[in-house]
Amino acid sequence: MSRSAHPAGPRHADVLPEGHYSAPAADLNALDEKVWSRTVTRDADGALTVGGIAVARLAEEFGTPAYFLDESDFRARCRAWADAFGPDADVFYAGKAFLSRAIVRWLKEEGLNLDVCSGGELTTALDAGMPAERIAFHGNNKTVAEIERAVEAGVGRIVLDSFQEIVRVAHIAQRHGVRQRVQIRVTVGVEAHTHEFIATAHEDQKFGIALADGQAAEAVRRALALDGLELIGVHSHIGSQIFDMAGFEVSARRVVQLLAEIRDEHGVELPEIDLGGGLGIAYTSDDDPREPHEIAKALSDIVTRECEAAKLRTPRISVEPGRAIVGPTAFTLYEVGTIKPLEGLRTYVSVDGGMSDNIRTALYDAEYSVALVSRTSDAEPMLVRVVGKHCESGDIVVKDAFLPADLAPGDLIAVPATGAYCRSMASNYNHALRPPVVAVRDGEARVIVRRETEEDLLRLDVG
Ligand SMILES: *Cc1c(COP(=O)(O)O)cnc(C)c1O
Repeated sequence: MSRSAHPAGPRHADVLPEGHYSAPAADLNALDEKVWSRTVTRDADGALTVGGIAVARLAEEFGTPAYFLDESDFRARCRAWADAFGPDADVFYAGKAFLSRAIVRWLKEEGLNLDVCSGGELTTALDAGMPAERIAFHGNNKTVAEIERAVEAGVGRIVLDSFQEIVRVAHIAQRHGVRQRVQIRVTVGVEAHTHEFIATAHEDQKFGIALADGQAAEAVRRALALDGLELIGVHSHIGSQIFDMAGFEVSARRVVQLLAEIRDEHGVELPEIDLGGGLGIAYTSDDDPREPHEIAKALSDIVTRECEAAKLRTPRISVEPGRAIVGPTAFTLYEVGTIKPLEGLRTYVSVDGGMSDNIRTALYDAEYSVALVSRTSDAEPMLVRVVGKHCESGDIVVKDAFLPADLAPGDLIAVPATGAYCRSMASNYNHALRPPVVAVRDGEARVIVRRETEEDLLRLDVG
């Protein structure tokens, strides 16, 4: 993306400041369906509605800031992924993107499996009734206590991430008199982000066991030799917010190559491969994500072709989308507090949340869109930076975007595509109270994660 010429807003000189933005949309009131959840629309008064409920009512009932999650969209996306991959593959929702008991129940009802990566996520999954055999347990440093609980619960698979863990899980499984189904997470040397990938990425990262130098082959040797383990396959996860399938192509080829080596050395064909998650979504109108059925076809074509070439039976494929399922289903609703026009630069719009409810902009330089949602406006576009209320100048929610120049304190603005990695990464910085997640469906709204209270803060502070 590049800076582009556009009509200067009324508060700006002809020259716009450096930034990462496109020209303003022709109509700032239009809601691009790529970035908003499926039931979002504007009512006759111009107010944004989700699940048939206008934002003013939602703000009144639940306060701001708050996340509003479009339940029917979430369920539709689960079904789209399950249908796209069909009965011969498994879709695991990556719980770290956003997890709550309601989410677990919806996943269960829509036929998805679930990835967890901590004792807390495992507890949430089990408490909400996800069958243990549909849970995969991830992480590069699972504690012994976490492994014990996962084995006792009977999770469907543990993804082994180190040589120490191979032994740990085997011992714990043996002590419980079970053979634990496991996969080995390998680092294939591919790193993928959005439109580019590096096929020769340095294996300089904390996750997985390197394919290079025969490390992964050695891990397989050790896992196959241990009675407590049933090695069902190999796992690879190459990046995040990926649009281009070429990185998956290289990754799948390398994983299949390992399966062929395992067959040659041990005479066993491992039945499964997991290609991880990382599929991208639209945060702004410039993003063009692929549909689940296109992704499913691309991945299964790649694996089938590579297996034919290696004369292997095609293994069962699993994938682990997190962001691609929950990301587009929610928006964050904020109330505008203060507005500071900086002549020749941009206008700072401060909202009642910030980096405590969305750390992605500060952490990853992530891009988001924003819209005025309590009303429409015919005013000229003005270049804004939406910032939070925290004591930190990097507290930015939306770095560069356009809002109508008549924006005023008290207006409601919303940031779409905040379903993934926002509430789940929320913090109490400045003793902020983490916002609620409200599920909206068919004219009804209900809290699925309540807003924190000051009593919650004080309860943890035992003085
Ligand atoms: C984070 C993660 C995912 C999910 O990534 P998304 O970008 O949310 O799809 C899947 N698998 C593993 C192993 C992960 O670490």
